[in-house]
Amino acid sequence: MSQLKSELKEGLRGLGAELVGVASLDRFEGVRPNEDPRELFPEARSIVVLGRAIPRGALRGTEEGTCWGVYRNFGGDVLSEYFLPRLTYHATRFIEDRGWEAIPMHPYPPDTQPMGVPVAEDRVAPNVVPDIRYAAVAAGLGEIGRCGLLLTPRYGPLQRLHMIVTDAEIEPDPLFEGQVCDQCEECVKQCPHGALSADPREITIAGKTMLVSDLDISKCRACGSGQQSDLYDPEGEPDRLPAACGRACVAHLMDAGLLELKYQASFRKRDPWFPRSEA
Ligand code: SF4
Ligand code: SF4
Repeated sequence: MSQLKSELKEGLRGLGAELVGVASLDRFEGVRPNEDPRELFPEARSIVVLGRAIPRGALRGTEEGTCWGVYRNFGGDVLSEYFLPRLTYHATRFIEDRGWEAIPMHPYPPDTQPMGVPVAEDRVAPNVVPDIRYAAVAAGLGEIGRCGLLLTPRYGPLQRLHMIVTDAEIEPDPLFEGQVCDQCEECVKQCPHGALSADPREITIAGKTMLVSDLDISKCRACGSGQQSDLYDPEGEPDRLPAACGRACVAHLMDAGLLELKYQASFRKRDPWFPRSEA
């Protein structure tokens, strides 16, 4: 491992990063221009994806139907707006102190693009926003599960991520070759609106192929089972982790013992909460 990479990873872990992975730019070959980091920074050579785990307890109030704000804070904005920016800032300063440029990126939703007009004929319309889930898979952190969420081997869907686009050439991590999602279909079955297709389709990221259900986002926007609107853009895909689909996945992966992180007791303790009209 190069000195730059080992020092960066060690430093970030010391600051509390629980997930750190590096992708090379060739792994973004074929993505649409508005999600291509090279449209943002043509000289970019590497993407660093870093993250922190979401405490399982942040979902408890939604699972019981008794408190929704805890997830919004400790699953969403406090993680994404307080803990992660500190890590991302330190990482960019670390890289720039060694003479490279580093762009810190929040996980803005890529699905609301474009939002402006091109500044030149050969440029794409703003905004260019790499897809954080794609970047995480390309950086070797995990896979996309049938539910469409990023699943990592230790935390399943319980993490929040930022990324850095840099012209520093950092040795990429290998893609994740294991499997977290076992295609149990609990996410599909427990969605009260049938928003996840029964038949999955193959998606491929940097040569890694995964089976994912199509998602009808219009149903998710109207879903009352716990989804929360995207932190950065209400038009983006809602945060589905606290919804019925995401909580079904957490419950299954933990009960089936498929995650590296083991808890003393099951997440699902009784029938999960759904709004009365959707139960
Ligand atoms: S957010 Fe709601 S509607 Fe969308 S997939 Fe999840 S449970 Fe279904
Ligand atoms: S609930 Fe099952 S099928 Fe759905 S993403 Fe999780 S592990 Fe995969």
